[in-house]
Order: sequence, then structure tokens, then C-alpha cells
Amino acid sequence: MARSQLLSLLASLVLLLGWCPLPAWADFALPPLPYASEALEPVIDATTMSIHHDRHHGAYVANLNAQIAANPGLTELSLEALQGQIADFPIAVRNNGGGHWNHSQFWTVMGPVGQGGKPSTQLLKAINASFGSLESLQTQFNKTAAGHFGSGWAWLIRKPDGTLAITSTANQDNPLMNLEGIERGTPLLGLDVWEHAYYLKYQNRRPDYIAAWWDLVNWNEVNRRFAAV
Ligand code: MN
Repeated sequence: MARSQLLSLLASLVLLLGWCPLPAWADFALPPLPYASEALEPVIDATTMSIHHDRHHGAYVANLNAQIAANPGLTELSLEALQGQIADFPIAVRNNGGGHWNHSQFWTVMGPVGQGGKPSTQLLKAINASFGSLESLQTQFNKTAAGHFGSGWAWLIRKPDGTLAITSTANQDNPLMNLEGIERGTPLLGLDVWEHAYYLKYQNRRPDYIAAWWDLVNWNEVNRRFAAV
């Protein structure tokens, strides 16, 4: 094929793509795990990770996409922007849009044991100012996560005034959501305390799961989130 013919073909292809509606591109997508499903062992077993990611997170994404037809405004928002406008949408969008955002952050704030780094100097300064020490933050976080009744999430957030705080949310709500009763702020670190996150290995021992989970925390990612606020 001559070069001019190839260029002409490419131009036609570009035109064709421009003409065709491609709704699939606007759909929400399940991000792959950033590591193998067995990478977080022995703290979280591979079976829990694969079921949690492929089936639970996968279902939130599929169910969120199923809401697009009835809520066309969804495709104009990024997943993060959606959280701040969630009150404008029906409960199915809140549950599944929250589930998608929450799990997307959850995979990234974890990593294999020993590979998570440490809080940055700047983050540690903010931690010390708000909690006194990292140990004190962890004690308070563990208490909130273990004490959260039923399904939900525990969060370390940066509040609009710049201080850090620990809070929890029910179901798939998160601190970005514009809902009453939610302590709002930018999530730096969120822990899933739904039973599906730990039950195979820890059964009813949620505090043991929480205590062990700190070994997985990817501080490099938490530092990045803190610096990006
Ligand atoms: Mn979950």
C-alpha cells in the first residue's frame, strides 16, 4: 500500500471513529489490582483478595454502569467528582458509586508487607499536630474501625481546616460525599471493615484484621494523597 493510501485510510478511520458513538468509553471500569492477589499474604489471603476485587468491586462497577441509562449525568462526572455530588443521585448510585471509589482507593493504599515506606516528614508533622504521635493515630483509628457497627469504612482524613481526623462511614459512604451526618474531608487512608474484607481468614476477629492490616499500609501512596490536597 502506498503511503498516500495508508494516510487516506487512517484519515477515514479517524472520521469513522469520530462519527460512531462509543458509550463504552464513558462507562466506569474496574481497575486491575496493582499487585497479584497473593501479594498481601499472610495478612490478607489470596482468595479473599480475588473475591473482593473481582466479584465485590466488580459488582459495584457493573451496578454503577447499570445506572447510567437512568442517570445520564453520571457520564459527565469523574468518579471522584461524583462523590461530592452524590446527594443529587438515587441510592443505587450512592451505594455503587461509593463502592467503586472506596475500593479503588483501598487497593492503592495497600501493598506487600515491608514495601509501604513510611509517613513523609510533612505528613508526620501533621500527624503529630493532630494526634500527638503515629502510635496514637493508630490506636484511635483501630478503635474507630473496630467499633464501627456493621458494614462500613474507617478513614484518616484531612479536614478543610488542614487538621487530620479519624472518622467512619456506613455501607459504601465516604468522607467526600455531600451528605448530612458525614464528617467531610479528603480521605488519605481508608480501611474496609465489611465482613467480606476479612471473614475467610479472621472470621469474627475484626480487631485482629485491623491490627495486622497496618503492615500492608502503602505510606508512599498516603504521602502522595496528603501532598496532593
Ligand atoms: Mn469491600
